[in-house]
Amino acid sequence: MKQIMPILDNHMHIDPRGRGLNAIKDFKNAGGTHIILVSKPSWTLSAKTIENSNEYVAVYEETIDIAKKAREIGVTAFPVLGVHPAEITKLTESFKPKEAVEIMKSGIDIAANYVKEQYAIGIKSGRPHYPVSTEILDLSNEVMEYAFEICAEINCAVQLHTEDTDEQTIIDISKRARKKGMPLEKVVKHFSPPLISEFTNAGIFPSVLSSKKAIDTALECGTRFMMETDYIDDNNRPGAVLGPKTVPKRTFSLLDIYGEEVFWKIHKDNPEKVYDIKIEV
Ligand SMILES: [Zn+2]
Repeated sequence: MKQIMPILDNHMHIDPRGRGLNAIKDFKNAGGTHIILVSKPSWTLSAKTIENSNEYVAVYEETIDIAKKAREIGVTAFPVLGVHPAEITKLTESFKPKEAVEIMKSGIDIAANYVKEQYAIGIKSGRPHYPVSTEILDLSNEVMEYAFEICAEINCAVQLHTEDTDEQTIIDISKRARKKGMPLEKVVKHFSPPLISEFTNAGIFPSVLSSKKAIDTALECGTRFMMETDYIDDNNRPGAVLGPKTVPKRTFSLLDIYGEEVFWKIHKDNPEKVYDIKIEV
């Protein structure tokens, strides 16, 4: 018998065109209880590029609908909505860079309204994970800092998708967030390596990609992190990232070594504090 405790995957995508609810069932059957459900990049949902920011409504509504369906099968899913940082590359194929930035900011405003109305618990932003020109990088930072400003204003968390993360990246992001008055504990770096002390020193919060090695390393440095798979639920890219059962499986396999208490911290106390939510089982 599995022990009753909360198990939260801090960054998962679910796509009805992919495995959809079956992936959530896999998560649940492995012992998972809570998901932070992040909106998919717009182009993977509508198969076309955004022409105006109102089109984000459909992307967000779909995410909210999936969260509702997850709850119906017994998994509590909290939506995080926003504009994927790579959207800037897609948008600048048909818009001037400045116009692309305005569309993205407006997409963040729309996400913020869903947070205000409590349909979502946070906003997604960041900057491209691949090399871009200085101009595009500067504009991406402008969009990310706008997200900090808005999240600070409405007091919600922000999840960031960025380039590969080292200590420099962590410090740079913290500085930009602080400049905009964003509470650093609410800045969640998605797809983090287990640089737990670097994150603790800089103040922002790591969401560690849950390979065995990364979680072992993270646990050696403490419990100030959350666990994620970045499951992308895309039939064209099976196994591109970790599967939906990974976080519960990893947690259960480590319980005997590290004890239950550390995982209550990781799966309940940390997300409750970062997102202002209640995690109950
Ligand atoms: Zn993702």
